Amino acid sequence: MTIQKDSAVTIRLTVVDGKGKVLESGKTPVAYLHGYDNLLPKIEVALQGQEVGFKLAMNLSPEDAFGVRDESLLRTISKKDFPPGIKVGGMMEGYSETGEQMVYTVLKIKGDQVMLDGNHPLAGSSLKVNVQVLDIRAATAEEIAHGHVHGEHGHHH
Ligand SMILES: [Zn+2]
Repeated sequence: MTIQKDSAVTIRLTVVDGKGKVLESGKTPVAYLHGYDNLLPKIEVALQGQEVGFKLAMNLSPEDAFGVRDESLLRTISKKDFPPGIKVGGMMEGYSETGEQMVYTVLKIKGDQVMLDGNHPLAGSSLKVNVQVLDIRAATAEEIAHGHVHGEHGHHH
């Protein structure tokens, strides 16, 4: 059996960012539904048509991972508009100047000003990705309807 759209695929995934920080250690296998952008598109393309035992090692540029940084997504708000209990490094939901809902990372708090970053935390990072294919099966109709894989290494609900 090869990996195709609607395959439930169990993989061992390790991801290291450009600074050598381990984002995914690969200790626990993960199961994903192929063909639904559950993994980064470049990774799914590389896995398409492969069999159990296939090993992939690839370097992704920021453009192929979570995008380049956009400095226009930095915002400063007043501390009085800031929900209590959030610390530097924390995440909060908010709205951009154009009214779009965004997730912001709190960069720093200076006086009564709070600096927020609307970039994805991994924007600007290149990623070193290793994948080993452990299992492939056809997904169930329920899994396809949900857009994710159930069972031991998938979603529990
Ligand atoms: Zn589900």
